[in-house]
Amino acid sequence: MVQDRFGRSINYLRISLTDKCNLRCVYCMPEDMTFRPRHELLQDDELLRLVRIFAGMGFHKFRLTGGEPTVRANLVQLVHGIAHTPGVRTVAMTTNGVLLEQLAGPLAAAGLQRVNISIDSLDPQKFRKVTRWGDVQDVWAGIAAAERVGLQVKLNAVVVRNYNDKEDVVDLARLTLFKPWQVRFIEMMPFGDVADFQQAGVVSEAELHATIAAALGPLTLVNDGELDGEARIYRLPDGLGTLGFISSVTAPFCAACTRARLTADGKLRLCLLREQEFDLMTPLRQGASDAELKTMLTEAIWWKPWGHGLSQNVIPLNRVMSEIGG
Ligand code: SAM
Ligand code: SF4
Repeated sequence: MVQDRFGRSINYLRISLTDKCNLRCVYCMPEDMTFRPRHELLQDDELLRLVRIFAGMGFHKFRLTGGEPTVRANLVQLVHGIAHTPGVRTVAMTTNGVLLEQLAGPLAAAGLQRVNISIDSLDPQKFRKVTRWGDVQDVWAGIAAAERVGLQVKLNAVVVRNYNDKEDVVDLARLTLFKPWQVRFIEMMPFGDVADFQQAGVVSEAELHATIAAALGPLTLVNDGELDGEARIYRLPDGLGTLGFISSVTAPFCAACTRARLTADGKLRLCLLREQEFDLMTPLRQGASDAELKTMLTEAIWWKPWGHGLSQNVIPLNRVMSEIGG
């Protein structure tokens, strides 16, 4: 088990498999985004070696993200390799769902257990406006396929003022009345070139509660407010499912953070919203041994920042979300 200097056990690795994506969500990246050439990204054998080292240090939960993880070549074999690494207990994925209709079956067979699928609006036009390129029917087909093959499904929506902050939020919340899903609303966070847009459009958890409660009734806190991952959980009257709120801007959960992130280009990032990163790719490609890499990781994790600095207006400018692995 590896700890940081604040005594937090760090055991959850989020891996960005690629910075590329088949959508261009307004809150995530500019439409003319440029991506890294393939040789700058961790190759399959490099990634699996790092996963082995992390698992040997006590990391047991791994989430594959991006960019869009489903556009990575050899995804199914990679998932199989990660899921069968000794010490790995949970393999999850965050995806836009567009390619899940074909991939859900092979991914589940390879060892994927959970999938968080992003769906910011149920309205086809609004969904297209937020994602710029997306068709919400593809996502529905992906959700259905994930359920069919037994993946545990949660839905994620980032809320953006004047895009999906009113009836879209209510429509999404209403799904939990008759589906046993967790629908999670994420406060938009500021990054890099798109920070101005993000800061202008953030919608707080408090405002979302008011919007949902006015339409669907009061929200009851579940489990005395104990976080489920990063989400605080509520239920609507007679709801089968739950509502989750991930409120990194107005109610940060830094004290309970157990996460580290591996970027697609092989950097270890210990806080999503802090710029500091540790380069693993260079020592890896220069022939560092497993023991040397483990020593570097232990040292880097020790220095994990306490938390983000959004309240002091410290915004990470070196990368946008898709490059870090959200
Ligand atoms: N492409 C996949 C997807 O969209 O689910 C995985 C990568 S995406 C970067 C991971 C998560 O980050 C998604 O739930 C997405 O909605 C969220 N996200 C992206 N940009 C964000 C931002 N600026 N603030 C908060 N969440 C954001
Ligand atoms: Fe792509 Fe996910 Fe970013 Fe949307 S949020 S542009 S789907 S990486």
